Amino acid sequence: MELIDGNLVSRKILSELAEEVARLSGIPKVVFIRVGNHPASISYLNKKQKVASEVGIRSELLAFSEDVEEQALLAQIDLLNAEKSVHGILVQAPLPSHLSEQTVFNRVSPLKDVDGFNVINIGKLFQEDSAGFVPCTPLGIAELLEQSEVNIEGKHIVILGRSLIVGKPTALLLMQRAKKRNATVTICHSKTENLFELTRMADVVVAAMGKPLFLKGNMIKKGAVVIDVGINRVPDASKSTGYKLVGDVDFNDVTPIASKMTPVPGGVGPMTVTMLMRNTLRAYYLNN
Ligand code: NDP
Repeated sequence: MELIDGNLVSRKILSELAEEVARLSGIPKVVFIRVGNHPASISYLNKKQKVASEVGIRSELLAFSEDVEEQALLAQIDLLNAEKSVHGILVQAPLPSHLSEQTVFNRVSPLKDVDGFNVINIGKLFQEDSAGFVPCTPLGIAELLEQSEVNIEGKHIVILGRSLIVGKPTALLLMQRAKKRNATVTICHSKTENLFELTRMADVVVAAMGKPLFLKGNMIKKGAVVIDVGINRVPDASKSTGYKLVGDVDFNDVTPIASKMTPVPGGVGPMTVTMLMRNTLRAYYLNN
């Protein structure tokens, strides 16, 4: 089994982005919005800010209290949409239940929507219009497959999960009528019947369910490529944090069967952040 090393691919792309940013006359800037103190959100945003600074992208974090009113949040987004020095805006999901993620994501200017969750950008992805922003995790998955020389044209990709953030946009991206895409895609979800029969037919399985260690070796065919998107915290008394991160794939069980697979951590995770930097640089060009 060949490991698909997301850290390695990320480092290469980030160093290219850093060179490009260094040549610009201005400085790209992204603003992150966090609502509440969700530990995973804090940790993801720390990472995004750290990588942004490594690439030379300026970032700012606006933190709102858990009970912020939707109108106040929308008013802040309006200000950022109008601010010329801000090129990208990212509202970290999940939001507390009193806020409508749909309303909030749709308020971000489509030209600054570096997460690609605004309905205009979702529509552009649907129409295969490359002018829009594509969500970062699907972009990272496509990039990893390409860089690992996994040929997906005409191949059967089974995606476990139909979320707006991962499952659905990944399907749309990988089935695009384009070179190095053209996959045949099946999307599964919690109501899918005979799931194992589908995963066993797949040339590539993308697991994005948020179910720790769900995918086992006997659920895939010999030689399949496995992309593990899941990031799950499971209790681990041996760690100072009290938890460890595992994916949706039972790595040790799948290793003897798969031909290539991504680890967790160090697979899709770093690629998501890297694609955010690429989208921010695009937003800089679009807004200048
Ligand atoms: P969501 O909870 O939004 O979606 C999960 C999806 O999995 C749903 O469509 C759900 O089905 C489906 N599902 C749940 N249980 C099963 C099952 N037993 N069989 C088949 N499908 C099932 O999660 P996200 O898409 O936001 O995230 C998924 C995972 O990826 C999480 O672990 C998250 O932390 C991780 N993640 C990782 C990123 C990275 O950069 N590596 C980025 C984003 C997310 P239904 O629709 O029927 O409920």
